[in-house]
Amino acid sequence: MATKKFLFKSALMLVVTLSLIFVSSNENYAQKRDIQIIAHRGFWNVNGNWNGNTATPQNSLASLKAADSIGVYGSEFDVNMTSDGGLVICHGPKIVSLADVQKETFETVRNEKLPNGESVPSLDEYLSTLKKLNVKPVLEVKRHYLDKDGNLPDFDKIAKAIKKHGINRKTLTIISFSLEVCKAAVKKFPKTMVQYLGGEKSPEELYELGIMGLDYHYSVIDKNPDWVERAHNLGMVVNVWTVDKTEDIERMVKMGVDQITTNYPVRATQIVEENK
Ligand code: MG
Repeated sequence: MATKKFLFKSALMLVVTLSLIFVSSNENYAQKRDIQIIAHRGFWNVNGNWNGNTATPQNSLASLKAADSIGVYGSEFDVNMTSDGGLVICHGPKIVSLADVQKETFETVRNEKLPNGESVPSLDEYLSTLKKLNVKPVLEVKRHYLDKDGNLPDFDKIAKAIKKHGINRKTLTIISFSLEVCKAAVKKFPKTMVQYLGGEKSPEELYELGIMGLDYHYSVIDKNPDWVERAHNLGMVVNVWTVDKTEDIERMVKMGVDQITTNYPVRATQIVEENK
């Protein structure tokens, strides 16, 4: 009799526990349903014209302010390093008249004028501007190499700048194609969302490394649709790049990603609203 009572109690406990897990995981999932839009290299594509818009060049302060003005969640930008260790905002390797930003000095790069008359922004200048805006920074570490002592001099400098400017670690996202940079970012900024761009690691493999976000080309998610749920089950965030076509944005929304990085942030915002 006592054994029967014990079994009944145990079964009841199990049912209650499983229900609680189910309810809380559903709540987590529901909390994640607001998809966040990230303007790729700022909102530079203001008129939907890939070639003609010179008022808001990619990775300029103007495109950062434009991203803020449309109220999107985040603005992505590329941090590159010059030959003498200066930090500048540009995708590279080419910038205006220079063939390779990483082979030029900081002064030479800063003297280059973007089509709207701005100098190529320094990281310092960019972070000071960001601090005054609501849009959240999504910082891509472009140049990365390990020195002979196994350090990442470029990332160490970026980390110092983030600290110096008092950037909010909880609203910052650091992204990189380098696993080494992502691992260093997790160590240096434990409260910051770090997302790996490479695309070949499963959510579980990234989770093992403490990397809580995947920021993959949308074709990777098309090939591995279950990665969204598997990432969510681990409390991870799924971001996709660079999703521009209406049908691709709609499909990613339906597949349940958390963030969409796009050159068409207004279009993406409308699609997300329509699919709510
Ligand atoms: Mg980038």
